[in-house]
Parts: sequence; C-alpha cells; structure tokens
Amino acid sequence: MKTTERRDALGNKLIFSGILEDSTFKVPFVSHRITYPLIRNSVYKFYSAYVHEFDDKSVLLIITEHTKIEPKNIEDYKEFIWVPKIESIKRPVHYIGLQGVITTVHGNSGLVKRCNNCKSILYDSCPNRCNDGWGWDLRVSSRLYDGTGSIKMVLTKDISSRVLQKNLGELILLATQTKLPTLSNGNQFQTSLCTIRIPDSIEVIEAVTENLSSSYRRSGRLIVTDGRNLAFLPTNEEHNFTNFSNRQLYASEIEDRKIIKRLIEKALEISIKKITGNKLMHGIFLLEDPIPLYGCERARLYIGFSVRVNLKEKNEAVVEFTPQAYVRESVFDYVNLRRERGASANAIARNLMTYRNRVIVAPTGNYGSIAEVIMRKAGTQRISDTDTRSLVEFWKEIYDIDISPDEIPLLKTKMVNSENAFTYPPSMCFFVGGDSLVIPAGVQGFIESKKSTLKAKMDEVTSKAIKDLKIGELCLGSESEITEKDNDIQTRLLQEIRQKLFGRNVSARGSVMYVHDELWFFPSQIQLS
Ligand SMILES: [Zn+2]
Repeated sequence: MKTTERRDALGNKLIFSGILEDSTFKVPFVSHRITYPLIRNSVYKFYSAYVHEFDDKSVLLIITEHTKIEPKNIEDYKEFIWVPKIESIKRPVHYIGLQGVITTVHGNSGLVKRCNNCKSILYDSCPNRCNDGWGWDLRVSSRLYDGTGSIKMVLTKDISSRVLQKNLGELILLATQTKLPTLSNGNQFQTSLCTIRIPDSIEVIEAVTENLSSSYRRSGRLIVTDGRNLAFLPTNEEHNFTNFSNRQLYASEIEDRKIIKRLIEKALEISIKKITGNKLMHGIFLLEDPIPLYGCERARLYIGFSVRVNLKEKNEAVVEFTPQAYVRESVFDYVNLRRERGASANAIARNLMTYRNRVIVAPTGNYGSIAEVIMRKAGTQRISDTDTRSLVEFWKEIYDIDISPDEIPLLKTKMVNSENAFTYPPSMCFFVGGDSLVIPAGVQGFIESKKSTLKAKMDEVTSKAIKDLKIGELCLGSESEITEKDNDIQTRLLQEIRQKLFGRNVSARGSVMYVHDELWFFPSQIQLS
C-alpha cells in the first residue's frame, strides 16, 4: 500500500496503489477512491472496479471513485493469499515465490556474447544483423518444475555470479586468455567426444503400429518410433509387424535426421549395456551397481556417464560422453524406512502426495510428480486394459529390470511437460535433489574418490561401444576415435553450472515476464537446498 500524488490538468491529486491478491492470483491496483482508505492485510469485496490489460498481458486493477468497496470480516485472511504454482501463472506477475526443481540447464547458459545494440545473444553474428559489436554477459537459462507445470527460468548476471560464486570480470579474463590453467580438482569431469560419420542414406524398415503402448519394444532390440505411429528398425531386425516396407532415411531431411539420431542413441544404448552388463538409471549408464551409503538414510551412489548425440550439418554426429555421479534415495527405500519407524500407510501416502511428490523416474531420468499412491502390489498391477502384462513382467521385458512382485505402494506419476501419467514401482522412483539428505564428510570423501576413477573407466567402455556401433549391417563407428574435449572456459563453466544446478531443489523469488511470446521467470533471490 502506498499513497502517491499525481498531477493532472486540475492540479495535484492523491491516489492509493498497492497489491491485491486472492487465492488464484495477485495484481497491482490503483485506487482513485481516496475517501475510502484501504488497510493492509484486510479483505474487501469490490463492485464495479475495472481491469486494464497492457500489451504484455499484465493487468492493473483500477478502483474508481464510483467503485463500491465492502469490507469483509474474515477471521483468517490466509485463505485469500495466493500460493503461486506454475500451472496457475498465465500472465506476467511481480514478486512471487516459486519452489521447484531445475529439470533442464540449457546449453546457452554461462558466458555468452550479447549484442551491444539489441541485447540479443549472438553466436557468430547478431541475429538482428546489428553490427554494433558485443560484450560478455553471464546468465543461466533453465527450466523450473514444481509438480504442476514448468517455466523457463533465467538467472541474470548478478544472481548467476552469486549462485556460481564467480564474478564476470574474472571469467572474462579467463575467456580471453589463450592457455587455461589446469583444473584444481583434476579432470574427472571432462567430457570425451567422438565424431561418427553418417552415410547420405540408411535403409530401414518402416512399420505402422496402431498401438504405441510399447508392446513391440523389447529390451536390447533396435526399434525407435517417430513419437506418433511409425516404428523404424534395421532391415535385419526380427519383427512381427504386418504393415511395413523398406525405405531410405536421408541425412539431408529434417524429419529423417530425427529418426537417425534416435537410432544412433538406441544402438549406443544397446552396445554400452552389452559391454558393462549394467543398466541405464537416472539417464546415466551405470558403471557399477548402486553403492549403499551408510550414514545417509537409504540413499545410494549411482556412478556412470551420460551420453548426448548431436547431429552436425555435414554427415556427422558428435557424441559426448560425460562422467556423472548422483546420490539418490528411492521411494521404496524411503517407504520401508518410514514403515520401520512406525508410520501408517495413510501418513506415508500423504507425505508422498505433498512434500515429497517430486520424483525422477528410472531408467530415463525424466521428472514427474506423484499424482496417486496406489496401495497394490507390483505383481497384481496390469499395465492397461489392453496390455494384460503385470508391472513385473513389463519391466523385465522392456528394460530387463527385476521388480519384486511384492513391491508396494505403486506410484501413478504425471510426467513433466506432458499430460501422460504412468504407474511406477516405488523402487524405480527417486526423490530429486538433496531434500532431506545430509551427506556426512566421510561419505563425501568416498564419493569424491569414486568419481576420480570414473573418466578412465568411461573411456574404456565408450571406445569399445563406438567400435561396436551398428544399425543393421551398417557399422558406424569403426573409424571413430574417442578424443579428449579441449574444454574452453565456456564449456567448463557450462559443465560447472549443470553440476551445481541440474536436479536441485530451489526456492526463488522474482518476477514473471513475457519474452518472445513466452512467460519467463526472473528470480531476484534464489536459494538452493
Ligand atoms: Zn543486435
């Protein structure tokens, strides 16, 4: 609440301004009804006030001298306070607090070059062709997910430097030096690269499938889909599709390139798993079985590496392998621990639906939120009305992962950025971030020493996997070599940002604004937990 004086043609005039909110949103207001002073933290009903919508879709409530204001006698005004959830944000709003997990750190985070004129980020030259030169800037572009929805979150220079504990000046100095100092913590987190040549065209089988429920998918088989109703597989792969034909995938066609990329990713997955005998979990290829960490509840250490395939302009794919180490606690272990301490089924279910509803699911590492806790055992749960397999059979056939038929409770999980919900066994859902997880120093030391051996192991596995990389009869990687990535400061910084922020729980305060026809969240304060 503020009182300000404005001037119009008749001289000075008082108005009130401030913020009004109810349980669904909050808006700034101005009141011309100065005969009716509004009191902070009180509830009113307004008749015939009007709303002004600006070009950026933000709104202002205007209380005129004719507006009728009725005070409401409310014992507890808290029910009129908006608790912001991402799903409910449909237009710009200032000074709100959001809690969520960072599900993506975009590749254009870190040190960027910005056009001096239009402030666009530039790569080779300004997208708006300004030709006015550029300056360095530091920013983090990410996605924040709170269980109801997700929003693009951008940390601007000041807040990025606080989070990263680096200042822009130092970074610029490093960026302009030709030779970089070696990293103090060794090079265990360096990415390895491999370039694969792709032929102009690849012959595959294209099959039509009405039912994408994955009944055709089997662990270890090279079949990918277009996400709609087409499946693609090598010409020598066994199958039982009835409606199929051979066709060429062209490296020059955009849609075909997407399929080629998926085929390479899937083929790599098969080839890596064959070598390690380990699984894909949290989106990383494990290099050994998960290690229980004594002294931190039931959390386990997952070590392995992630794979990223980038198709380049010419007939080339660049594959990046990056060592990763995560500490994660599964919902199953959590439920058992709570149970041993005497918690009731209802208390556990309530907790899983509220404070602990954000999870990451195996094996993909995708994020979701628990929508329903189903008190039924995995062995008695069917996949769907049309697919009569049990959850246990499904996980064995599709992912080659053993689920105990006695696992309970099952978790219906709604996936991030999607309307789809799937039912998961609790051992395949993990809490994100370090929510309640305190890692003692001794354990931290153990994790660090484990990490330091990662890179060598990863390189050994990946160089074999690349040599074995095949789509049908076509050998893709026979001439490829794994190379060390000569990391420049930008790449290192991006890696550091990913390590620091990806998968972390944050609570942030800031404003939501329209940028490029999309709502972005700009925090002015942020706290990682
Ligand atoms: Zn420009």
